[in-house]
Amino acid sequence: MSLDHAAPTPATHFIRAIIDADNASGKWGGRVETRFPPEPNGYLHFGHAKSIFLNFGLARDYGGACHMRFDDTNPVKEDQEYVDAILEDVRWLGFDWGEHLYYASDYFDKLYAFAETLIRGGHAYVDSQTADEMRANRGTLTEPGKDSPFRNRSVEENLDLFRRMKAGEFPDGAHILRAKIDMASPNINLRDPAIYRIRHAHHHRTGETWCIYPMYDYAHCVSDALENITHSLCTLEFEDHRPLYEWFLERLADAGHFTRPLPQQIEFSRLNLNYTVLSKRKLIQLVEGGHVEGWDDPRMPTLKGARRRGYTPEGFKLFTDRIGISKSDSLIDMVVLEDCMREDLNERAERRIAVLDPLKLVLVNYPEGQSEDCFAPNHPQKPELGKRAVPLSRTLWIEREDFMENPPKGYFRLKPDGEVRLRYGYIIKCTGFDKDPNGNVTCVYAEVDFDTKSGTPGADARKVKGNIHWLSAAHAVEAEIRMYDRLFAHPAPGARREGDAPDAERDFLDDLNPHSKSSIRAMLEPALAQALPETRFQFERHGYFVADQKDHRTERPVYNRTVTLRDSWAKGGA
Ligand code: ATP
Ligand code: MG
Repeated sequence: MSLDHAAPTPATHFIRAIIDADNASGKWGGRVETRFPPEPNGYLHFGHAKSIFLNFGLARDYGGACHMRFDDTNPVKEDQEYVDAILEDVRWLGFDWGEHLYYASDYFDKLYAFAETLIRGGHAYVDSQTADEMRANRGTLTEPGKDSPFRNRSVEENLDLFRRMKAGEFPDGAHILRAKIDMASPNINLRDPAIYRIRHAHHHRTGETWCIYPMYDYAHCVSDALENITHSLCTLEFEDHRPLYEWFLERLADAGHFTRPLPQQIEFSRLNLNYTVLSKRKLIQLVEGGHVEGWDDPRMPTLKGARRRGYTPEGFKLFTDRIGISKSDSLIDMVVLEDCMREDLNERAERRIAVLDPLKLVLVNYPEGQSEDCFAPNHPQKPELGKRAVPLSRTLWIEREDFMENPPKGYFRLKPDGEVRLRYGYIIKCTGFDKDPNGNVTCVYAEVDFDTKSGTPGADARKVKGNIHWLSAAHAVEAEIRMYDRLFAHPAPGARREGDAPDAERDFLDDLNPHSKSSIRAMLEPALAQALPETRFQFERHGYFVADQKDHRTERPVYNRTVTLRDSWAKGGA
């Protein structure tokens, strides 16, 4: 494990309590083996980060191992592109699975053989009802299901049919292999669930070798047992599947395929975040519908998007520690995530100067053609990071909002006849300004007090209240700044709202924030053009920004706004 977030997490939770108890009783001989099992049918999102930090974090803290396993049992939706992206994201978060990279598809032979074991033990049968019949006979939450007319086929007939399913003799949907459990169970998951179905489809790893594929509930527990997983952590939706998880493993252990103790499934509550959606199905709609510019659009709640936005792995670590692990469903405020990113970036991002809405300022008594260096600290709390030279000359860029012709009381920035300090430079006094015919200020004039340069003896003899940032026009570089904001304007995208008609349906796409992206031309200090893609900075007084991973070039700088300095959303957006 790399990165400096590898320090153990101090906070405890019920899963740690279970592991501590297992270690105390010697259940696993002190072994802790977890796994992160994504299906490679999309990109990882913020919810997956919670699961990754939990599984890899426990393995790290208990000296165990966390397996990276692809749950690739549904060939139709899966792709190598997703496999590669998922591995890259897990590594980006700072985790390393070492030799433990697995695919459920590696177990297809065993899964098949174990299914034959279940048939021989009278625990599985081939059903030949149509999909409609099966649905009709499943029953409901209040009514029991009905036994299939094929439920009592002999072992020989079941084996023969199952082998012929595998051999490709039947079309999709002609037969399925089902577990023989209880069609009257109050738990619908136990009403003879499917184990194998016929799918004549190309698999991204096994190609055309198979035309029958195992179902998730069967493949998952068997994969866990084959890998000697001790604690199999999943989200709460799987609580009702746990009896099935145990049913399969108990029978396969009875048949001698596994030894006890068997892996224990433990459920925790998934991450729900407001102002976004965390479901691959919806994320795909955003991408395919062209509502965003791809999976790595900086507004997407994907790890690829987060990375491009400038979010940090350490910020995610802080976030997952802060929200904790429990069994109760909760909705986390986006502010919590944004605050974690701010906190982390405040520590690690060097400070730089950018003028986002440039207004010209001419220092009337500063010699033409001359320039000098001012020295700005790279990080105010970290003197060890040193200072850098920022050139000053006669013509500067300042923020338009840092000058007002008729300021309200308490405005300490530049105003007619007023004084401010040019941050890291001199105190100046405003001597005049120009306006265009529409009344817009086009240029401000000021005089320099040459006895006040920051960092020189006696510079602080005279104090002024205002302090503004600036850039030398001759040295500044122009850049594109992409101002990102939340993707959705409503805290619960697509959810019904008070006042909606009883039959009204909302679409989460209707809640997209139309102002989630804008692009501006801004001025940057020269060092920002030189920075490598993905370098993160605080632009003083503006927020945190990152050099775009894909589009930033020294000759054509592009920065993305990661997050503002403070939470401005509550006050109506930034
Ligand atoms: P989605 O619901 O977005 O389709 P998924 O659960 O189908 O996600 P998987 O690839 O199956 O995605 O997930 C891999 C692992 O990540 C699973 O163990 C799953 O429980 C976990 N996971 C997925 N979403 C969340 C979430 N919102 N919070 C915590 N863990 C999650
Ligand atoms: Mg899922």
